[in-house]
Amino acid sequence: MEKDLEKLISLLIKADEEEKDFIKKAYEFARVKHEGQRRLSGEPYFNHLFETAKNIAELGMDTTTIVAGFLHDILEDTETPPEMIEKEFGKEVLFIVLGVSKLGALKYHGADRHNESLRKLLLATSKDIRVLMVKLCDRLHNMRTLSFLPLEKQERIARETLEIYAPIAYRLGIRKLSRELEDLAFPFVYKDGYAEISSVFKENYSERLENLEKFMKSVMKELAKASFVNFRSDYRVKGLYSLYKKYLKNKKDIEKIYDILAIRLTVEKTEDCYRALGIIHSSWKPLPGRIKDYIARPKQNGYQSLHTTVFTGNGDLVEIQIRTEEMHHESEYGVAAHALYKGGDRKHLTPWIESMLPHSVTEIKKDFLSERIFVFTPKGDVVDLPVGSSAIDFAYLIHSDIGNKMSGVKINGKLSPMHSILKEGEIIEIITNKSAHPNRKWLDYTKTSFARKHIKNFI
Ligand code: MN
Repeated sequence: MEKDLEKLISLLIKADEEEKDFIKKAYEFARVKHEGQRRLSGEPYFNHLFETAKNIAELGMDTTTIVAGFLHDILEDTETPPEMIEKEFGKEVLFIVLGVSKLGALKYHGADRHNESLRKLLLATSKDIRVLMVKLCDRLHNMRTLSFLPLEKQERIARETLEIYAPIAYRLGIRKLSRELEDLAFPFVYKDGYAEISSVFKENYSERLENLEKFMKSVMKELAKASFVNFRSDYRVKGLYSLYKKYLKNKKDIEKIYDILAIRLTVEKTEDCYRALGIIHSSWKPLPGRIKDYIARPKQNGYQSLHTTVFTGNGDLVEIQIRTEEMHHESEYGVAAHALYKGGDRKHLTPWIESMLPHSVTEIKKDFLSERIFVFTPKGDVVDLPVGSSAIDFAYLIHSDIGNKMSGVKINGKLSPMHSILKEGEIIEIITNKSAHPNRKWLDYTKTSFARKHIKNFI
């Protein structure tokens, strides 16, 4: 195990000796405190803590978060009092550990736990993003060892992972994590779907995969001919779960999905991305409508890259993604990619990532949550709406018939005006009446184009 600790520490390129000692201390502390405890797999419980901490280190998070990773189960599973954590490891570590424990307590809740936990998670992020990072890395290890749990637990945990944790990782821009969580959970939640898409994939793609490698070599040759230096290429296969979702969306026509296989070119500078795109397009015809410039216009979660889909010449279509090393790192690690930067080199950060740095989601809210609010149905389902939406917008989002028949609304159990502007976390219950119908005035009280379209249609 000592060897493993060295490996973990070697992941921390920027940590100084003091920080390394801090991690060693947490390692020892957790090992002693959890002594004798075992996981259902039979291995020492400490392995779980170590793997969680390692996942955190691999994402490039800071020392405090890694230490909290080692200690994240200590309050629940040992007799260690919170005061001792604070004394040995400081306020910040205790704060994160307490945050994670609170999230963990959710497992004792009943039926509506999915939505309830989503709500709690969002509230937790609003204080400190590191709580969420520990929780995500804890979940990653639990998913990797899910087969040791009883069957009925497997499905429930996997579903929660698909519906809550993976989307949150995605929204934080940590694609590497969201992809892995999805693909680990998928077979447990949609057994038939998983079997179907696996066999469709095998049938259609084993041969194409071989062709892809050949094609990749010719792309590299063309670039080299144009005296391109310092670039690397690899390819990625779309995750099976995201493939499955697209497959269903495309009415099971796999031929209409163009990004199942993608070549990734990593080049030095931003201008090289455009130059490489030009070279590729002069050798292979692009598919119209599939050229995307996410460098000039990054995706909302900060993702940057050039995308194009080209005809390879042997009947195949292949997506090519071109980006710099930094863009690549950011696309895989998102908010985690920059957690380590302490004041230093921030100039290349997107404003979005910059806003995440203080670890506080008051700041995140300014961005990916700020434009949206989360409210709840009486059953606890989460609905997200643009800021400034009214109860009428909510009603139409649930269903156009509910909007059209809306006669009143209860907000947090209290009768309220229909044009009330909704606030984060409110529980909205729409009252309908057969004889009710929309009127022109509603247009003044609606924010979403969706609701407005239905109201106009009715008038
Ligand atoms: Mn745990």
